[in-house]
Amino acid sequence: MKVLVPVKRVIDYNVKPRVKMDGSGVDLANVKMSMNPFDEIAVEEAIRLREKGVATEVVAVSIGVAKAQETLRTALAMGADRAILVVNEGDVEPLAVAKILKGIVDEERPGLVILGKQAIDDDSNQTGQMLAALTGRPQGTFASKVEVSGEQVSVTREVDGGLETVTLALPAIVTTDLRLNEPRYASLPNIMKAKSKPLAQKTPADYGVDVTPRLTTVTVVEPPKRVAGVKVADVDELVAKLKNMGVAA
Ligand code: AMP
Repeated sequence: MKVLVPVKRVIDYNVKPRVKMDGSGVDLANVKMSMNPFDEIAVEEAIRLREKGVATEVVAVSIGVAKAQETLRTALAMGADRAILVVNEGDVEPLAVAKILKGIVDEERPGLVILGKQAIDDDSNQTGQMLAALTGRPQGTFASKVEVSGEQVSVTREVDGGLETVTLALPAIVTTDLRLNEPRYASLPNIMKAKSKPLAQKTPADYGVDVTPRLTTVTVVEPPKRVAGVKVADVDELVAKLKNMGVAA
């Protein structure tokens, strides 16, 4: 069984994003970019399935700027077998990403597609669900456990009330939650090996997908700055202040 893992290049989660002066978006100039953390978890899960003998091949795919090649090399260094880069220099919205992924699914026929539950730059949480709809495949979202047996995959999902387990017929779509696994670091020898693994380059046109954005960003603003706190001498002063502010009786 082949496993397809879509990985997105996003601002590194440790970097505090800066908003452009004109409020048109987030400034990406000279900012450290990395693989979306939920996608690292997806790559790890796919590699573990191959190590267990359940998967035979792990294919990583990214849709984005030419530099997304670095993100794919990271996936290859973690252990993916080959990669596909669909180059587009502008933003690609989740629906267009899902349509391109559908084109790749039609060509590659993977038994499982494992995506992140959301990309930390747009927080859309849409692509996996849209891909399931476009391909007509069953979906198990927010997975904290994935078990393949025969022609089925069991996905344990973190829901408000606790854990829910669903069983899907393969081929299926799974999206990862934070607690599914702890992704491995790529070792130096594996980083070197990854440089010679196959990486195919494509364009959205190869899949007949128009990536013209359908949404217009009206404005992007920084979160309000936190006002400085006040130091109090003791608990009595704290209680008096809270009473004054009307937040304690
Ligand atoms: P989103 O729906 O944008 O929150 O993204 C959910 C998941 O879809 C991500 O965690 C990735 O697995 C996948 N994805 C979204 N955008 C891309 C992209 N441009 N290239 C590859 N995978 C993507």
